[in-house]
Amino acid sequence: MVTINENYLKLSGSYLFAEIGRRVAKFKAENPEANVISLGIGDVTRPLPQAVIKSLHQAVDEMAQPETFKGYGPEQGYDFLINKIIEYDYRSRGIEIGADEIFISDGAKCDTGNIQEIFGIENIVAVTDPVYPVYVDTNVMAGRGGVLKASGEFERIVYLPCNAENGFVPELPRQPVDMIYLCYPNNPTGTTLSKAELKKWVDYARENHSVILYDAAYEAFIREEGVPHSIYEIEGAMEVAIEFRSFSKTAGFTGTRCAYTVVPKQVMGYTRDGDAVSLNQLWNRRQTTKFNGVSYIVQRGAAAVYTPEGQREIKELIDYYMTNASIIRNGLMRLGFQVFGGINAPYIWLKTPDGMDSWTFFEKLLNDAHVVGTPGAGFGPSGEGYFRLTAFNSRENTIRAIERIEHRLKL
Ligand code: PLP
Repeated sequence: MVTINENYLKLSGSYLFAEIGRRVAKFKAENPEANVISLGIGDVTRPLPQAVIKSLHQAVDEMAQPETFKGYGPEQGYDFLINKIIEYDYRSRGIEIGADEIFISDGAKCDTGNIQEIFGIENIVAVTDPVYPVYVDTNVMAGRGGVLKASGEFERIVYLPCNAENGFVPELPRQPVDMIYLCYPNNPTGTTLSKAELKKWVDYARENHSVILYDAAYEAFIREEGVPHSIYEIEGAMEVAIEFRSFSKTAGFTGTRCAYTVVPKQVMGYTRDGDAVSLNQLWNRRQTTKFNGVSYIVQRGAAAVYTPEGQREIKELIDYYMTNASIIRNGLMRLGFQVFGGINAPYIWLKTPDGMDSWTFFEKLLNDAHVVGTPGAGFGPSGEGYFRLTAFNSRENTIRAIERIEHRLKL
């Protein structure tokens, strides 16, 4: 008899966006005339930059000739892309990363999900709450969750509440934690941490021999001066932090797939006997065993992001979404909503009015305004009473959605 990994049974039956999809499909079936606008899922809508398209075409042509054809590439990624990342994403900010500390992948979702494999099962995981669900679910699948409590929290996971009361700044945990997931700019709240706040976490990790798993998938959306773009801007972070980045939102690669993870050689994990082992070595072993690299064509496309034309085009792309973000943010504030995020991130996090629970607000918004968003409760217990809207729809739809909220939403 084949047995299963019963940890999977602890996960809620349907993934958040599947549940939203189900409810929207039901609404559309019952209201076929309704033109529903989604400010829900975090997927981009603008096409790839021309510089990327050009580079993709060239790479396809290379694959057609025996002299330039490419088979398997290095599992860690091609140097032509790694060197651009080192130069543009890190050296430009005074950070020195080695070529063998960067691992190109097909997504930050897989990397943030897979990274837990190189850690011991007994580690205590800490997540900010609300949270991008991948960090929690992958640790639950691996067996680090423990019992699911009635509150929706897993017994062995340490949740660090982030809410309007604490300004969305997580407090250091009261009990020792080993693997700390931080995501800034944050999905879902759209908020950021200052260098001083991030420094507290780096100091904590150094003192406690913990590791910070820093998801910077939205780094390119930072607009304000002084907000850290990389955790390595913080002194000591090279010893304790792994950083995840993605071309998905930065350059419209959600359907093209390219991302990377930085694992500095100095970051250590420990055997039960207390011997230090470089996490870079373990991640390299994991990737070379289980992953055969991102396609040459896609990596050529990603490298074009770093050309002058590519840099100009991604700036336009991000400006477009961030103008949407300010339309949503300012529109909602004008209507009296309490609003967070949307300044350094494409996410707007609003407090539901009159203490309404977030799924009730979801239904009201859908039924009254025909607008779809994401209930905060889907991101963790502290997300209850909040709601996420995203800036990734078209300008026209974004403006129309806010107009509908103004004129049709009956609270
Ligand atoms: N990390 C965060 C915080 C995200 O919100 C997302 C996508 O929504 C990802 C990672 C996934 O990125 P990718 O498309 O590179 O897998």
